Amino acid sequence: MTTQAATTQSEALFSRARAVTPGGVNSPVRAFKSVGGVPRFIASAQGAYLTDVDGHRYVDYVGSWGPMILGHNHPAVREAIAGALLTGTSFGAPSPREVELAELVTELTGAERVRFVNSGTEATMSALRLARGVTGRKFIVKFRGNYHGHADGLLVEAGSGLLTNAEGQLGAAAPSSAGVPEEYASLTLVSEYNDPAALDRLMAERGHEIAAVIFEPVVGNAGVLIPTPAFLAALHRVKDAGVVLIADEVMTGFRLSLNGATGLLGLQPDLRCWGKIIGGGLPVGAYGGRADLMDFVSPQGPVYQAGTLSGNPLAMAAGLATLKELQANPGLYTQLETYTGQLAEGLKDSARAAGLPLTVNHIGSMLTAFFIGAPDIRTYTQAAPSDTKAFAAWFQGLLGRGVYWAPSQFESIFISAAHTDTELNATLEAAQAAFQEVN
Ligand code: PLP
Repeated sequence: MTTQAATTQSEALFSRARAVTPGGVNSPVRAFKSVGGVPRFIASAQGAYLTDVDGHRYVDYVGSWGPMILGHNHPAVREAIAGALLTGTSFGAPSPREVELAELVTELTGAERVRFVNSGTEATMSALRLARGVTGRKFIVKFRGNYHGHADGLLVEAGSGLLTNAEGQLGAAAPSSAGVPEEYASLTLVSEYNDPAALDRLMAERGHEIAAVIFEPVVGNAGVLIPTPAFLAALHRVKDAGVVLIADEVMTGFRLSLNGATGLLGLQPDLRCWGKIIGGGLPVGAYGGRADLMDFVSPQGPVYQAGTLSGNPLAMAAGLATLKELQANPGLYTQLETYTGQLAEGLKDSARAAGLPLTVNHIGSMLTAFFIGAPDIRTYTQAAPSDTKAFAAWFQGLLGRGVYWAPSQFESIFISAAHTDTELNATLEAAQAAFQEVN
């Protein structure tokens, strides 16, 4: 694999973009701030590949941050969108595909009611409002390093782009963003992920004031962190105090199984939030769960939530096509897991050969290679000392060799159905060379 040097067109676009858009991007991690270098502007995407405006082709492990589980520009999804396009782009009135997608989601997940919104952020924000409306309580609990979108009350000890700043150093503690009033942040109580005793203690002291506990059932936004059975048991115990248990499956939904992490790990949340895959690459989110809770949502109940473009016909078509494709190919999840396992083993081998400490966490088609030697990384606190500079050097080595890894140490990568042995071998070859270049 040759290295790809010229980034003239990306540089020119980045310069134009910075003049008209904050930081030149519409979502922070895309700016490559924690890894340096010029963000690649993408001209097109097909299958497992991205092609940038300078004509370089990359094996893509970002997958638009999760939605593209079938690979880019999948024919079934493309044709569904094209078909929907012929009948109009937005009606502002109910339409058949919304019903069809809601029926399919309830069938696959066991949720009794689903409400479609336009992003994962809207889904978590709305689910929390619902929990507060139902319980009449103010406080919510989240976990360090879990990211649930950018609603005010959730930008507290949050993960994803908030975990690294320009120097690749760890970001600030609560709240994680300027512009979030302390009063909002004070209603969000933060506990450590995978610490059942801390959660039990918090519930014993404050359970009667807490409306909801929201959690990533497998964390992707502090890098991949896998929950322990004891932690999952503690999460389920919060329901005993009348607290609404909300699994944020925006990342894991339809990715770890047809029934997400809930199906894979045997969870029993009251509510779930979805995004990414449920929209097949178009902007969709959803929340759903128990009918007795969901029926508090307007117009059925008193908790207000609305959206001009919610249930958009093109987005519903893309989501439907994606979920139907997944449903028709049950072996796909094993295929994805096999690829991911082989990638993990290959990375560990070549890091070891290069004398670099590396801990690889993976589950299903999610993986993070932490640049730190650790027997087990289960919390953000354990992940945080990872060598972000070494990661950045490795990332650049991969990029130059045609592999587009997630541009931050504290993110999951995503494998798609379009990734085959060809991409695996090319990736491992590039990774091996890139490890050798890390000092
Ligand atoms: N929840 C989780 C677990 C996520 O990973 C994300 C986004 O990455 C969100 C919520 C927010 O979703 P969106 O970016 O669609 O608003």
